[in-house]
Amino acid sequence: MRKNYLLTPGPTPIPPQVSEALARPIIHHRTPQFQEVIKEVSEGLKYIFQTKNDVFILASSGTGAMEAAVCNLLSPQDTALCIDGGKFGERWIEITKAYGINCQVIKVEWGKAVDPIEIEKVLKANPKIKAVFTTHCETSTGVVNDIQGIGAVVKESSAVLVVDAISGLGAIDLKSDDWFCDVVISGSQKGLMLPPGLGFISVSPKAFKMVEDCKNPRYYFDLKKAKKALDKTDTPFTPAIGLIIALAEAIKLMQQDGLENIFQRHKKMADATRAAVKALGLELFAPDAASDVVTAAKLPASIEGEKLVKTMRDTYGVTIAGGQDAMKGKLIRIAHMGYIAEFDIILGLSCLEKVLTQMGYKFPIGSGIKAAQEVFLK
Ligand SMILES: *Cc1c(COP(=O)(O)O)cnc(C)c1O
Repeated sequence: MRKNYLLTPGPTPIPPQVSEALARPIIHHRTPQFQEVIKEVSEGLKYIFQTKNDVFILASSGTGAMEAAVCNLLSPQDTALCIDGGKFGERWIEITKAYGINCQVIKVEWGKAVDPIEIEKVLKANPKIKAVFTTHCETSTGVVNDIQGIGAVVKESSAVLVVDAISGLGAIDLKSDDWFCDVVISGSQKGLMLPPGLGFISVSPKAFKMVEDCKNPRYYFDLKKAKKALDKTDTPFTPAIGLIIALAEAIKLMQQDGLENIFQRHKKMADATRAAVKALGLELFAPDAASDVVTAAKLPASIEGEKLVKTMRDTYGVTIAGGQDAMKGKLIRIAHMGYIAEFDIILGLSCLEKVLTQMGYKFPIGSGIKAAQEVFLK
């Protein structure tokens, strides 16, 4: 028998209350019963997104909601600015290019956050830019970007600000309205503690005007259809009924905790994880902009990263993530988001210590756990 533990930055573990909801018999979606659920989750999502704007629920992974943002806001030949500081910033470039958008890029070194002043400069030099595509937590590097600072500069331009908060939402603070985020995107399988399969997109009135004017062809992801339906407490197509019912449970858990407590909990787990990897002699990959969502740490050159991750998973049942692209085999990424708690972190670290030791890396055994415990005891 082997027990499995999931410490990856998506998918994340699921609370029993959510699993129970997923096991309920299916109901029909064009019913007063399901309309009650739509009402409940629509209000709940506004709380989690910290917005007064509509939040549309799509039957897609998070990337579907990213694509919905691009194809509803911009028409071919329009100009956009993409911030590329990792795998998910790159995705904005790929999607905008696929739609024939003229895409300007600010390339940011992996492990660093974008400087809002850079964005301000580019916006001033290019008044044709209609949308700025950013990433809240860049999950591939563990970096958190200064969305508040970015919002303050984008709002002075005619462009809308689009934020990929797929991993950040519900884990770290994102004040959609107060920070002038026009479009915020998320997915179900990270901070929101659900299985994959739902995409979320909130749209401000300024952005919705662009949706109405947009000439780009689209059908399934047409947000005008989504809005028309939501105004009647309905959905344009068959929604992911089971997942949305489970979402209501996840939101209830989050409302019981309160966003402030949730953010504090994530910060504590992140502080503990960072202290632990440093105590093990590993270097943080993003020391100046480390998110409280996922910790990325560089491995010593002598350690084969892919083998480390594989051994933790296949021998001991503890799944963490490795590095992607240029950082493949060189990084570990330990998630501390959603339904991951203090002792999951301790457990993950103890497995990391064991496998590092087996692979011949020398450190006082227990030193990572000790550092984490000290943070948790504070
Ligand atoms: C996970 C993730 C995505 C991709 O979401 P999918 O649900 O896999 O489509 C995009 N951006 C960020 C920041 C993510 O963490």
